[in-house]
Amino acid sequence: MADIIQIDENTWRFEDGFVRFFVLVGEEKAVMIDSGVNCPNAADLAKELTDKPVFLLNTHGDGDHTSGTSCFSEIYLHPADFTGCEVNTRYPGVRLVELSDGEVLDLGNRPLKIIHIPGHTKGSVAILDVNKRALFAGDSVQKGHIYMFGAKREPDKYKASLEKLIAMESEYDCIYASHDEYKLPGNYAEKVLEAWDKVTNGEVSFEMIDLFGNAVKSYTTDSCGFYLQ
Ligand SMILES: [Zn+2]
Repeated sequence: MADIIQIDENTWRFEDGFVRFFVLVGEEKAVMIDSGVNCPNAADLAKELTDKPVFLLNTHGDGDHTSGTSCFSEIYLHPADFTGCEVNTRYPGVRLVELSDGEVLDLGNRPLKIIHIPGHTKGSVAILDVNKRALFAGDSVQKGHIYMFGAKREPDKYKASLEKLIAMESEYDCIYASHDEYKLPGNYAEKVLEAWDKVTNGEVSFEMIDLFGNAVKSYTTDSCGFYLQ
């Protein structure tokens, strides 16, 4: 069960323990961006906010972003996360609708632009809420620790993905993250990139920790952290 907090007249965040997800309402329809870790009734909660039809769009396929998936008949997801993520192993009956880089989904006077940013997962996307000048970045830009270990990650592509977001900075003023602080300044991808460069250049020390049975390197910087193989 999530705590629902209004961000503006047609945008809400759902605080679901250590993760959050969002509902954005346009003039014709609404979208749920991710569906939390412990919120199997996510669609019912969204219906209390709007009478517009609600569809589900995921920033990526990790299990902590998918708990409401079975409320929906389909999920918009980048095809690079169609396999290998919990979203498809846990909810096999849900139809997967392909998102592509650069495509625009319009909620009715509220266009959303999809930006493919592989790294945290192969199919991670950010969503630009064009008129509101806000970027929903999933796990890829945040203050917490970003998971970068295991088969579904693509750390080699992460730097280019951050650079892609930085190149678009004139189009957004803030970033909404899925973990840790919910709202970050529009230049925060620069801080995460700086931290990632330091980590990959060996300038940050790490400690070995156990995460779900995996021995991983935990890096912590002033801006964010990373868990690496
Ligand atoms: Zn997550």
